[in-house]
Amino acid sequence: MRYISTRGQAPARDFTGVLLAGLAEDGGLFVPQFWPELAPAEWRALRGLAYPDLAARLMRTFVGDALPPATLQSLCEQAYAGFDHAAVVPLVQLENGLWAQELFHGPTLAFKDVAMQLLARMFEHVLAERGERITIVGATSGDTGSAAIEACRDRERIAVVILHPDGRTSEVQRRQMTTVRARNVGNIAVQGSFDDCQDLVKAMFADTPFRRALHLSAVNSINWARVAAQIPYYAFAALGLGAPDRQVAFAVPSGNFGNVLAAYAARRMGLPIARLVVAANRNDILARFLAHNDMSIRAVEPSLSPSMDIQVSSNFERLLFELLDRDANATAAAMQAFRATGRMAVPTAAWQRARTLFHGFSVDDAGTVAEIARLHAASGYLADPHTAIGVAAARALPVASGIPTIAMATAHPAKFPDAMERATGRRPPLPQRLADLYERAEHFTRAPNDLAIIEARIRATVLRNAA
Ligand SMILES: *Cc1c(COP(=O)(O)O)cnc(C)c1O
Repeated sequence: MRYISTRGQAPARDFTGVLLAGLAEDGGLFVPQFWPELAPAEWRALRGLAYPDLAARLMRTFVGDALPPATLQSLCEQAYAGFDHAAVVPLVQLENGLWAQELFHGPTLAFKDVAMQLLARMFEHVLAERGERITIVGATSGDTGSAAIEACRDRERIAVVILHPDGRTSEVQRRQMTTVRARNVGNIAVQGSFDDCQDLVKAMFADTPFRRALHLSAVNSINWARVAAQIPYYAFAALGLGAPDRQVAFAVPSGNFGNVLAAYAARRMGLPIARLVVAANRNDILARFLAHNDMSIRAVEPSLSPSMDIQVSSNFERLLFELLDRDANATAAAMQAFRATGRMAVPTAAWQRARTLFHGFSVDDAGTVAEIARLHAASGYLADPHTAIGVAAARALPVASGIPTIAMATAHPAKFPDAMERATGRRPPLPQRLADLYERAEHFTRAPNDLAIIEARIRATVLRNAA
């Protein structure tokens, strides 16, 4: 399988090339040259597989010859052995016709573990084969940083340094990053905002001598391998509820559009997905696009679902490329205009095509709290704020009866104790493996918003790891 850039000006690569590169050289995103399709009989044959086996089978279509099948199988088994539910990504029925798929049983209690645990192992395998090392740098306001640290910790060929805005992440989220004690992990609390952290990371990538010397790499959701590793759980849910002989619908709490893009890919691979609901909080650019073809940037407003407080959804470019019939020039022009003007003009025909599958939904904090309370009262189920938005979206979806709807449960409720207390009157306990999180020692350094100082810190972490 080869991958091409959505902007058409970068050379095609294989899976390993895409894994290591992240972004294409022309600023575009890599997509598969064609969508691998499974016939209904092939899907039926996958029913009942354990999750790691299903993941290995479906990832194989994207990995191609880049990894031997037995290696891929073994990496999938290792990646999901650390999840604390035997089904890895279990389905829970909430009411008639409505399910939640719990994606939060990994080490950091958010769905990003599902992809990141596999990605870190694929990275390590490929680096060992090539005799190379990399340094992963990232900026985080929440879940991405902890999922990356947890997945990369103690991996000899990878150093990982995460910048977070000092004092501006939730305590659970900060502690999940800073209580990891591993020689290849660095945490820097920057005196500034999340945007300042992101600007510092961009500046490091633009500093060519630094980037080359440290072999900088990124694991944010623009990496195709992350999207690919999210496809198997859609298949797991759909097959479990009767696909390919029955249609299903999904509601996906969305920010960067990576998770829902994986659902789109699952549909292109032949799963009968009738509808996809893109669920948002007050930061509703995607819902506005789907409702009125209004893709215009507004200021980001903080909410109870911080992992969805995003205005520019980087993975949307991959859908745009498909909506424009894979016209790379038109995609590049639309993205450049969007960047320049803060508004994207999508041709009416392409917008209408998006609406045949995607449905937008948004709800504010009061609606989120009301949905958490309602679920808790009805069945005792505890949905975190992100999940609650997905459930509210699923409920609002106008689908024909008889089509099961699955809301993606993207975070464990214990990650957001304040919102849970507001809605249900109690703070959910952390699962066993994190029960002593508040007692563990934290390891991080503070730094001013200064590129030279932060680059020096990162060099020190990398040297320590290589020593
Ligand atoms: C990252 C995240 C999201 C948003 O997912 P995208 O792939 O960026 O759309 C939703 N919920 C939680 C809990 C997250 O961590």
